[in-house]
Amino acid sequence: MKKENGHKRKNPIYGNCGVFSPDGHLMFRCTDKRINWYLSRNLATIYNNNPNDIILTFTPKGLGSNGDNYGLKEKKNICVVCGLDSLEEITKHHIVPLIYRKHFSLHIKSRAPHDIVPICIEHHYEYERAFALVLKRELAEQYNAPLEKIKSEDAKYLIGVKAAYVLVLNEDKIPADRVEILKERIREALEKKHITNADIRNLAKVDPKECYSQIDSHGKIVMDSIGNLQTFVEMGRQHLIDSMEPMFMPEYCDVNILVLTHSRHSSHGAFSVQEGKELTRLGRYVTVYLYCLTVPKSH
Ligand SMILES: [Zn+2]
Repeated sequence: MKKENGHKRKNPIYGNCGVFSPDGHLMFRCTDKRINWYLSRNLATIYNNNPNDIILTFTPKGLGSNGDNYGLKEKKNICVVCGLDSLEEITKHHIVPLIYRKHFSLHIKSRAPHDIVPICIEHHYEYERAFALVLKRELAEQYNAPLEKIKSEDAKYLIGVKAAYVLVLNEDKIPADRVEILKERIREALEKKHITNADIRNLAKVDPKECYSQIDSHGKIVMDSIGNLQTFVEMGRQHLIDSMEPMFMPEYCDVNILVLTHSRHSSHGAFSVQEGKELTRLGRYVTVYLYCLTVPKSH
């Protein structure tokens, strides 16, 4: 069995190597590739004779995920639904679908390890087909964000553009009743009872490609509409749990884990999307990976 892109997975989704601060605090876990990066640059040495653990040779600016039980716990690379442990059949499942996640700030996107879980290909597709689509349709309804590429009013405009183009090019050759149909489409597009030849010519000059690029996608409309990113992500996590009833979620996994930090938050509504962006700018909640905070510029 192969990954969905046709390549067999070779690397684990969770890295379980430990990175310790010079005074012996476990800071975060990562892959062996990552610890080799530190070792090859003499930024760390093997810790306690365990080839999977390293201790830094420099003082970091922070302690990474120290204090975050979930982040520091070793995790199995098995399907969270059925426990399948074949690396080749495991896929990296993003709990928040890409169509929404791509509108997160880079800061949040790069720091969402809680929202990536291993799922076997079979269960990944089962969730996508049977449940994720239902959720998207519910969000489409809730936020007036159609899943179709374009909203109905935009579609109407594009139909009008096409009609104008046909008319300008071929009016002499088109039967009168057909001309009237095309003009009606133009009236609908322009939302005018009466249209002039200038209206038709101007509409025919509109580039449909530009129209498409200006039309907001379902994902963007939803993300622009939600008031609270934390609540949205928690909803996505809960949806996966309710839908698939995963029996093998990593220890300390918690629906309420903060999107922007690695600790539990005390109440709902911690951050709005805009606040998240502000926090990104301010860098106030950067408590995560050491290599983002401490590693020399060459990284
Ligand atoms: Zn499975």
